[in-house]
Amino acid sequence: MKWQAVFFDLDDTLYSRADAFARTTRRFSDRFVGPGIDVDFDSIQAGVVSRIKDESKGVGQDRHWQLVFEIIKERHPEIEPTATELVAWYRDELIAQMQPDPGLQRVLDHLRSTGTPHGVITNGDLFQLRKIDQLDIGIPRDRIVMSDVEGVRKPDPEIFAIAAERLAVEASPRVLMIGDNPEADVAGAKSAGMTAAWMTLDRSWEYGEPRPDIRLSSLRDLIDHL
Ligand SMILES: [Mg+2]
Repeated sequence: MKWQAVFFDLDDTLYSRADAFARTTRRFSDRFVGPGIDVDFDSIQAGVVSRIKDESKGVGQDRHWQLVFEIIKERHPEIEPTATELVAWYRDELIAQMQPDPGLQRVLDHLRSTGTPHGVITNGDLFQLRKIDQLDIGIPRDRIVMSDVEGVRKPDPEIFAIAAERLAVEASPRVLMIGDNPEADVAGAKSAGMTAAWMTLDRSWEYGEPRPDIRLSSLRDLIDHL
């Protein structure tokens, strides 16, 4: 299949967020708490998520992480930096620990050698560009379409149309969107008229219609569909 254009979601498509979190939390424990001592980020995060749900709407990532590190400091009073300092450290370290999907380079090489236009469509703000830089994927900035910059978010078909236009193509079944989110990526791409490939992350499809056209356990699987 020769695609007219190929688009990627960013988080949990170009890299594994779970892997980056795991490496970051390990480094956090080693550095601030002590070697071999585990900070239970999972239970703390779950607690924060339910606590934040009770607050008024509009609570963002910053508040979430502030609370996470305040709780960690309560449990581990030996940690010296303030919660605010820890949030800043964690954000930087999380970026540094992002590693491209093992199949990404081969996919990009293939797209370049076949002259297939490609870009990124992501829900987020300019912070996403730091991740793109870390992953070193060589996709120019004007082909990174960010929801907070465009003022429209996936799954709205409008953002897919904007991205297609950026690559001088029209949204059609000959344009491929790859992403992990059933609603934002799969339903969004389908409603824009594109073909949708879903990063399964070991999940089975339990999200109804529309279904993904292609299922991928890694970007390595994508080579067969290019
Ligand atoms: Mg994603």
